Amino acid sequence: MESAGIEPEPEPEPERCPSAQEPPGSPAPPAEEPEPSEAAPQPQQEAEGVPPPAPLAQGRRPSGPGSKGQAKRGGAGKGGRGKRGSTRRAGEEGGRPARRAHVTVDSSKAKTSLEALKISLRQLRWKEFPFGRRLPCDIYWHGVSFHDNDIFSGQVNKFPGMTEMVRKITLSRAVRTMQDLFPEEYNFYPHSWILPEEFPLFVAEVRMMKESNPPWKPTFIVKPDGGCQGDGIYLIKDPSDIRLAGNLQSRPAVVQEYISKPLLIDKLKFDIRLYVLLKSLEPLEIYIAKDGLSRFCTEPYQEPTLKNLHQVFMHLTNYSLNIHSGNFIHSDSVNTGSKRTFSSVLHRLSSKGVDIKKLWSDIISLVIKTVIALTPELKVYYQSDIPAGKPGPTCFQILGFDILLMKNLKPVLLEVNANPSMRIEHEQELSPGVFENVPSPVDEEIKVAVIRDTLRLMEPHKKKKKDNQYQLSENASDTKDDLLEPGSTDQLEHDISKNPEASLPSLCLKQVFPKYAKQFNYLRLVDRMAALFIRFLGVKGTMKLGPTGFRTFIRNCRLSNSNFSMASVDILYIDITRRWNSMGLDQRESGMCLQAFVEAFFCLAQRRYKSFPLHEQVASLIDFCEYHLAILDEKRLVCSRGITERRATLVTCQPDGLHLTPATHAPLLNRMTAANKFTDYRNHRS
Ligand code: ADP
Repeated sequence: MESAGIEPEPEPEPERCPSAQEPPGSPAPPAEEPEPSEAAPQPQQEAEGVPPPAPLAQGRRPSGPGSKGQAKRGGAGKGGRGKRGSTRRAGEEGGRPARRAHVTVDSSKAKTSLEALKISLRQLRWKEFPFGRRLPCDIYWHGVSFHDNDIFSGQVNKFPGMTEMVRKITLSRAVRTMQDLFPEEYNFYPHSWILPEEFPLFVAEVRMMKESNPPWKPTFIVKPDGGCQGDGIYLIKDPSDIRLAGNLQSRPAVVQEYISKPLLIDKLKFDIRLYVLLKSLEPLEIYIAKDGLSRFCTEPYQEPTLKNLHQVFMHLTNYSLNIHSGNFIHSDSVNTGSKRTFSSVLHRLSSKGVDIKKLWSDIISLVIKTVIALTPELKVYYQSDIPAGKPGPTCFQILGFDILLMKNLKPVLLEVNANPSMRIEHEQELSPGVFENVPSPVDEEIKVAVIRDTLRLMEPHKKKKKDNQYQLSENASDTKDDLLEPGSTDQLEHDISKNPEASLPSLCLKQVFPKYAKQFNYLRLVDRMAALFIRFLGVKGTMKLGPTGFRTFIRNCRLSNSNFSMASVDILYIDITRRWNSMGLDQRESGMCLQAFVEAFFCLAQRRYKSFPLHEQVASLIDFCEYHLAILDEKRLVCSRGITERRATLVTCQPDGLHLTPATHAPLLNRMTAANKFTDYRNHRS
């Protein structure tokens, strides 16, 4: 049974773990929700420990900082400091087989993901620095955000701006832009309105829909922006109910069509938490974990009525809420209880004749399309935090996708978590006020594999090899017509699995992009608009376009003419920018944000290509802009080549044979990069 190259795992054998029971109503911090913002301070300790090899089957080790058995010194005085393991290369060394260099991981900011990270590192036999390190590490594992630490090299497991991008309002806006362009492709996200600014629109649209379809009795779900764990969420039957619920100005929110016919198992509503690795933004690389978690409600589901609207155990699947229900079932098995593996749910559905292959394909499409909606603005954050040419880390990130299955098996995106909980234990109240951490086998099975295999994919020593493999996997996808063909193998994972250290299980993460790039690249219009936006931002580090930048964009792309004067350009800029800035999104910087630029771009496209559908208007205008910028780049290249050649002649005429300094070459190199970028865009489109 397989789909899109991702096969659901067979239902695992139930594991015995009696200690996983916990009493209903236990105040355990949720294992499924975002983490607290700060970790408790940790004592200083020698930070050059070499982890002892760990048996794979049972990865658990004594938890907490300072635990014994972990802090064995690895030649700290000599081989440790000043001589990073990574300077060694695998191969022959003085006639002896060389030892593989340890990958070094700074886990000092891992917070509640620490336990799962430690197990993963032991399985990989990598070198953990639980209290940081004076020398740079290869990988920095942050529990909360990119900004947890000042990092100038290596890789960090968070992207700048991701937390902001997946907030309820920002995500809804990003998906809305895509829905404007591709309504069919993005119908996996419920119809949403942003409050307070779209309240009048919400009221008007609902009234209109009710008038045109009187039997329609909708329900809406109101979700405060930035909320989590079901906090502040409530259901309503009519837009007027919102007003009763508090001050919208002080707490912006998203109001969304409530999916009233979810798929039920044992009469219970459930959702799916899937782990997605964003391995790289440029080029875009996305992996999906083959297994995830299913979180169940604890009251049998009924379609919403005025009487049951407030019953959270019936309507909200949040673990953090349902754990307080007397009906919550802690199970030591991964395929029973109120939290199960997704594979066990799939197994159950498949036994009832559900087309699992189609379901996986739909889920993969949902994930890729959502990431495509998020990446344009992420790139704006990225260039602002890590300007090109300045020292900085590269980033990757594990995202938690919350997905609901409708009765007809259509997956619906609920939300994306930038910081999905990686806790593998929960608190159990032994006696009133006395708590103990007990392992959660379901969480451990899924989360340790996700962290470990993310690390395997990010291993820095494999980078060179990976670059070749990336080419390979791209070529492989080029030759396939139907990329969601079942049974297609992924070269990258296959080769990594063949690696000598792969006494490990096969990767639980499957590449879906660029593997299926051909099917989804046409959706990446906002990405191309973001590339134009970033080009004209000018000063590195800003995220908003000033009026001069916007005018330069119009001029360089030859967009003004007798029908559209530069005065009209200024009016367009002022109108749109003022409106976006009045929404109170980000007041720190003045100017035009990416979303405002996209709106301006839509206006320009509609004005120029009147009769096309919007996505064709926009695609045509992007082509037009890229074409003119490429001509400009070429002219500049020729011009600077002429100058360089003249200078070179002058230089070779010098009797002492002076050479040009690298600084003289720099502008030429930058322009060549710009020209190459253009070639990339054109290739993307083809
Ligand atoms: P939070 O971040 O607070 O958990 P979510 O958006 O995940 O907010 O919503 C909480 C829960 O509400 C979800 O887990 C799901 O059970 C339910 N839910 C959210 N949106 C919808 C929707 N549009 N239709 C049906 N149920 C929903």
